Amino acid sequence: MKLLAFLLFAATTLFAAATIEKYTVLLSSNPSTDERYTANLLKEYLGKCAETDIALLQEPAVPADPVISIGETTLAKQCGFIDMPDANGYILEASGDNYFLRGGNPGLLFGAISLLEEDLGCRWYAHELRPTKEHYDPGLEVTPSHRGKTLSLSPRRYTPPFSIREILYMYGANANRELTMFLRLAPISYHSFLPEDSGSVHNSHLFIHTYARLLPAKKYFAEHPEYFAMRHGKRVPQKNTFGAVCYSNPAVPGIMTEGVREAILAEPGARYFSVSCNDGGGSCECPECSVLINKHTLAGVQLVLVNKIAELLVGDYPDIRLTTLVYSSDDVTKAGVYAHPCVVPFVAPINTRYNQISMLIPISELPGVTSPLINARKAAKEVIYWDYLDDSRLPYPTFDQFAQTVRWLAEQNISGYFADCTCGGVSLAPLKKWVFAHLLWNPSLDMEALIDEFIKAYYGSSANEIAEYVSIIRKAWRRFKTEYDKTPGQGITLVYTADELSKMRKLFEKAWKDSAQDDVLHGRIAREYIVFLTKMLAGNPVVTGMEQYTADYARALECLPYLPWNANVLSQKLPERWQKKLEWSTREPEPEQYSANSFIVWKPLTVDGMSEYIDDPDALDGKATRHFGKQPWGVQWNYRHFIDCLIPGKTYVLRMRIRADLKDTQEPRSLFSFHPFHHGNKSINLNRGVMGVESLKNNNDKYRWVVLGSLDFVNPEATGMFWLDTPITPEESVYYDYLEFIPLEEYKKPEEIPDCKYEL
Ligand SMILES: [Zn+2]
Repeated sequence: MKLLAFLLFAATTLFAAATIEKYTVLLSSNPSTDERYTANLLKEYLGKCAETDIALLQEPAVPADPVISIGETTLAKQCGFIDMPDANGYILEASGDNYFLRGGNPGLLFGAISLLEEDLGCRWYAHELRPTKEHYDPGLEVTPSHRGKTLSLSPRRYTPPFSIREILYMYGANANRELTMFLRLAPISYHSFLPEDSGSVHNSHLFIHTYARLLPAKKYFAEHPEYFAMRHGKRVPQKNTFGAVCYSNPAVPGIMTEGVREAILAEPGARYFSVSCNDGGGSCECPECSVLINKHTLAGVQLVLVNKIAELLVGDYPDIRLTTLVYSSDDVTKAGVYAHPCVVPFVAPINTRYNQISMLIPISELPGVTSPLINARKAAKEVIYWDYLDDSRLPYPTFDQFAQTVRWLAEQNISGYFADCTCGGVSLAPLKKWVFAHLLWNPSLDMEALIDEFIKAYYGSSANEIAEYVSIIRKAWRRFKTEYDKTPGQGITLVYTADELSKMRKLFEKAWKDSAQDDVLHGRIAREYIVFLTKMLAGNPVVTGMEQYTADYARALECLPYLPWNANVLSQKLPERWQKKLEWSTREPEPEQYSANSFIVWKPLTVDGMSEYIDDPDALDGKATRHFGKQPWGVQWNYRHFIDCLIPGKTYVLRMRIRADLKDTQEPRSLFSFHPFHHGNKSINLNRGVMGVESLKNNNDKYRWVVLGSLDFVNPEATGMFWLDTPITPEESVYYDYLEFIPLEEYKKPEEIPDCKYEL
C-alpha cells in the first residue's frame, strides 16, 4: 500500500508539469538591456495569463520554483544551452519543467512575443486610436487565462527571413511603439521605432535623402561650390529634394563621414544610418563625374561614395550599417563595383512599382522590380527592398500579391522589407497591418486563417459583413489579375462591377446601422466605409446621379468624425473637393470657360528647381506655372485633378493658354511637348503622336491659346499624369496658366484640332 502511494506521488511530480503561476522568470546576474526588458515583458504577460504576479529573480539567487530563463543565465549554461542564436532569431529549449529562451538582439525580444502569441494565445490586434475627443478606440489586446493550467511550451528555434521588417500602416507620422514591438516589426525608417528602453532600437533618424544633411549647402556652398553637383554647366546647391554632391571631389567623402559620425554619436544604440541621394536621383554633370558615371553607372558611383564612407567609419564602428538608396536598375557589378560589407543597398524601384496597377501585382512578375533587386544582390550581401504598397482612394485588395511578394523576397535572400505609402490610413489598414506583419515574420503562415481570425476578433458583431466585403474585393482582384496576365501593362486596371459596388454599399449600410449603439465598432466601420465612399465620390456627380452622390456625401460626412485629423481623406481636403464637385455639377459656367461642359484645371504639380507656381498679372487667374527649359517631368498634371469630371465615352479637345519667354525669337521652334504617363501602363499603343507647340516668329511674352489635340476618355479608373518637357534652353521658360477639356461636340473652330490623340 505504502509503495503504491509512493509510486503515485512520483508519477505526479514526473508527469504533471508545473502550472503557470508557479513559474519564475530568471535573469543572469549581469543582464543586457534587452534581456532585462524581455524578462520584464514576459513577467507582465505571464502574470496576465496566470492572473497573479509572476516573480522575477536575478542570479546568483537560486529559484525554488520552475523557471523561464531569459538570455545567457548560468542555469542555461549548466544545462548545456550555449550555442549562439542569430541576432534576429531565438531558441526556446526545455529541461525538466524549466524553459530557456535565448536569442540575439532583437531576436530575444521577438522570441518572448512569439512564445506569448504562439504558445499562450496572446494577441495584439490593434493599438488605441483617438480620432477626436468624442470618439476613442481602445485597440484590441487579448490575454487568455491559463490559471491553474500546466505551462506547456514547444521547444524550437526560429530566425525570420528578413532582419528589417516595417510597414507604415498607421495614421500620422509615428507608429505606436508598443504595437510595432508586438507585431515583431524591426523598423528601418524614422517613422516607427521599438520602445526606447527595449535596448533593441537599431534604426536611426538619419534616414533617406541624406546627402544634403551630410554636406549642407548652407555651410559649404559659398566657399566650396566644387563639392556640389554640376547641372547645365553650373554648380548648384543641394537640398534633400534636389541636387547632389560632386562624386569625384576628393574632399566630399571625408566631410560626409563626419556627418554620419555625428549622427552615430547622437543615437549610440542605433545600427542603421543612411547615406542616400536626395529625392530625385542626383547626377553630377561635371567632366570627371560624367566619365565615372559612364563607366560605373550612377548607382555604381553612388555605391563607391558610400563604400569610401564605410571604409572611414568601420574601424571605430564595425557593427554599423550604411544604407544607400538605389533607384535605377543598373547592374553595378558590370563595372566591378561591390558594396563594402557594412553597406546595404536600399532598392526603391519607384517608377515601376508606385502605381495603382503595379502595386496589385506580385513583384516576381515585374521585371522592373526584380532586376534591380537581383542586381543589387549580386553587388551586396544585404539588400533591403523599398516597396510601395497601397492606395488610399479605393478598397484595395493587396493581400494575395503581398503574400507572394514576401515569399519571393525570402527565396532571393533579400534581407529587409519596408513599405511606404500607407501612412494616412488606407482600406483595411488594421487588418493589413496585422496580417502583413505576421507574413513578414514568417512568410509561410496561412494568410486565410490570419484574415479570418482578425476580422472575427476586431469587427465583432459586424464580422460577417466585413468578411464578405473582403471576399468581394479579393474576387475582383482575381478577375483583374486574370485579365492582366493576358496583356500585362496594357491599361488593365482593377474595376468593381456595378453589382459588386451595390453589394458593398449594402454591407456597409448594414454594418453601419447594426453598430450604431457600439461607438468603438461604429468607428471601425466608419474608417472602412469612408474608403468605399471616397471611391464613389471620386466620380462625376452627373454620371453617378445627383441623388446617390448627395446621399454618399452625407454618409461620408457622418464617418468623418471617426477619422484621425491626419487621415488622407482630411489632409487631402477631399470633403471640400466633394462639396465643390456638387456645386460644380449645378454651376453657372466660369467666365473663362470655352463652353458649358468644358472643364478647367488650374494648378499642376511643380517640381523644385524645374518649375514654379508664381504670381503673374497677365495670367487669367493672376497665377501661372513657369517651366524652365530642358526639364522633362518639370510640370505634371495629375489625372486625379480632372478625371472625375470627365464623362466616360466622350472625346475632349485639349486647350491650354501659354506664353513663351525666349532669348531668341527669330525663328519658330518647339516650345514644349505634352505626354501622357499611365501608371502601370507603359504602352504607347493607346496614344498617337506627341502633343506639342511651336513658338511664333518674333513673338514673346504674350499669352495665347493653343489647341494640343484630342483625348478619348474611356476609363475613369485610369491613374497617371500628363507631363511636360521643354527643349528650350535652361535660361528660357514657358508659362502655362491653365488646361481645359472641351467636349468635342461643343468645340467650334477657328483653330483646327491637330491630328493627335490620346486615350485615357
Ligand atoms: Zn562631379
